[in-house]
Amino acid sequence: MSEPLFEKIALVGIGLIGSSLARVIAREKLARHVSISTRSPQTLARAQELGLGHSYSTSAAEAVKDADLVIVSVPVGSSGAVAEEIAPALKSGAIVTDVGSTKGSVIAQMSPHMPAHVHFIPGHPLAGTEKSGPDAGFADLFQNRWCIFTPLPGTDPAALAKLSEFWLRCGSNIDTMDPDHHDMVLAIVSHLPHIIAYNIVGTADDLQTVTKSEVIKYSASGFRDFTRLAASDPTMWRDVCLHNKDAILEMLARFSEDLASLQRAIRWGDGEKLFDMFTRTRAVRRSIIDAGQEIDAPDFGRQAMVHPEKQA
Ligand code: NAP
Repeated sequence: MSEPLFEKIALVGIGLIGSSLARVIAREKLARHVSISTRSPQTLARAQELGLGHSYSTSAAEAVKDADLVIVSVPVGSSGAVAEEIAPALKSGAIVTDVGSTKGSVIAQMSPHMPAHVHFIPGHPLAGTEKSGPDAGFADLFQNRWCIFTPLPGTDPAALAKLSEFWLRCGSNIDTMDPDHHDMVLAIVSHLPHIIAYNIVGTADDLQTVTKSEVIKYSASGFRDFTRLAASDPTMWRDVCLHNKDAILEMLARFSEDLASLQRAIRWGDGEKLFDMFTRTRAVRRSIIDAGQEIDAPDFGRQAMVHPEKQA
């Protein structure tokens, strides 16, 4: 049997991302020992029931002792407090990384606490679902998804190479970026779509005194696809909005301008403009399919749904 990549990995936070890591680490035998910590006894007990690791603690400092790799998977607004808690317990030479959806803010919160004797390498796996908690994770979550590192100046190349090897063995593709660039890119590909989804579902919900039954009944017409994003974890997304404020506001300003232009085209009956734009956007989906980030099945590959009343 090949040697595991790490002797001990500590997972701080065991929700969707942390528990998916636990599962893929076990499947790929990436560590001899996995220690798990989460702040609530309930989540910790559930992680233990699911057998996600070898040792369990509500103390993050306890969990990271002797760990060669520490992965912080908590909402981005809590990363500073976690860094402060674990700092005194970190082993010399340990790699400390995170999975937070924003990078500038996580670096600003965590790096002041990181001792000089550890390698802090911020990261973000671009993989997720609208579910949260330790039951939601699965070992294939990172398969063929990107993991972006935003290394700080002077990062040890050997530590970065080892962390890259870890994520490759979790199934990911690796990329490296400047943190500000990461935050701008993610604002458009992830944060804005979620904000738009929260907004449209919120608008429909406000209308529901008039149209409640119709909104739900006819949701498959398009609305339903927004509700998946709008069902994402409220804590995580509150923190993303608060911690990537500048990039999100920049993208929202552009979005609003483009929406106003679309509104004008509809008002003035500019069919050519509408047709050209809808043709351009259709090609974007084709490129995503060609890049292997989506399947080409109609209706996102959903099986036809049988209405419960019509089931035999
Ligand atoms: P999750 O399923 O909600 O799990 C969150 C974990 O963090 C739980 O262990 C929770 O502990 C802990 N936690 C919550 N609040 C905390 C606090 N104030 N202090 C310390 N620990 C706290 O979340 P997730 O989806 O795994 O997301 C974790 C991180 O991954 C976030 O930074 C997010 O931005 C990033 N991320 C998420 C996705 C996605 O699609 N979900 C994708 C990529 C990256 P208890 O349950 O014990 O309270």
